[in-house]
Amino acid sequence: MFELTHRDGTARRGKLMTPHGVVETPVFMPVGTQGTVKAMTARDLEEVGASIILGNTYHLYLRPGDDLIARRGGLHRFMGWSRPLLTDSGGYQVFSLAARRTLGEDGVRFRSHLDGSAYELTPEKAVDIQAQLGSDIAMVLDECPGLPATEEMLRSSVELTARWASRCRTRLLELREGGVASVTHINKGQVQFGIVQGGTSSNLRQLSAERTLAVGFEGYAIGGLSVGESPEEMYRTVESTAPLLPEKQPRYLMGVGTPVDLVECVARGIDMFDCVMPTRNARNGQLFTSQGILNIKNARFAEDDSPVDPECGCYSCRHFSRAYLRHLFVAGEITASALNTLHNLYFYLDTMKGIRDAIAFGTFEKFRQSLHRTFSRRSLNP
Ligand SMILES: [Zn+2]
Repeated sequence: MFELTHRDGTARRGKLMTPHGVVETPVFMPVGTQGTVKAMTARDLEEVGASIILGNTYHLYLRPGDDLIARRGGLHRFMGWSRPLLTDSGGYQVFSLAARRTLGEDGVRFRSHLDGSAYELTPEKAVDIQAQLGSDIAMVLDECPGLPATEEMLRSSVELTARWASRCRTRLLELREGGVASVTHINKGQVQFGIVQGGTSSNLRQLSAERTLAVGFEGYAIGGLSVGESPEEMYRTVESTAPLLPEKQPRYLMGVGTPVDLVECVARGIDMFDCVMPTRNARNGQLFTSQGILNIKNARFAEDDSPVDPECGCYSCRHFSRAYLRHLFVAGEITASALNTLHNLYFYLDTMKGIRDAIAFGTFEKFRQSLHRTFSRRSLNP
């Protein structure tokens, strides 16, 4: 399902084949939390060049429910998105959003953050929900320990995550081989990625990688980063963990990051990323541009007729001025969220395209330095 086509140093360019099409890597996946990337239509996402997006299992499981989505033919059809989809396992949100969690060997019991109703997420249940959503790539259920955590807590979390990974794999193989009566396996070509945990400890990352690889998955993710550690610690952890993963399989760094994080982690051999940053920051008026970060609410843009980013080809930059976008934002118009999100996603996806081209042309290092200059430069709105 994965083919490496170019290398430049440790950076890799490749193709990920899925039942809903080919994804060029390194790739950034916009986050579609509740069956939509906030403020975007599927048509907008296609226009900005999104080749794969992420769906959040926790949110969809609680509302409207995976049974309801399965009865509508799966998440692709339900949300009108025909390109590839990755779903997370729901674990991260259970550990960050849900109330009254009780963690046990079998799984995690929790109460919905929406109405307090009781649920249980087990490794098997996480696989079943994602089978019913019909994503192209499903993730195993992992435990996400809060930081700071002691070495002992992290070690027991790594061990539990490994046992859960094995149960997730067994369940997916059962679904593939004949099915489970209560589960509609929407996408027969769905693949499953394991997740390497272990905080910033290289010993625990090594242990987690060994255990996860022993189970065997179509791809591997590095989880548990971008949770408050410094960028240097994150880069160091990625640098020591990525080489432990199989060369010929895709590597996904979960929940990362800034444009500089993306280029730094591509430099360390990562192929896939997701993050709410471009979409969330857009709704707060913070825009990523070829000249650095721009805060559209700033008064200095009140009569600025230039586009947000003169070098950007997005719909917002081709049609509207900073003055207009600032007005929409200040007036609280929902169009501000839509136009700002369009721009930020275009910027992120265009940056990834630049990275892929640079890897193919052997100019990745130059691209990396140039991106650093852009984002270390004084912001347009200090
Ligand atoms: Zn733009």
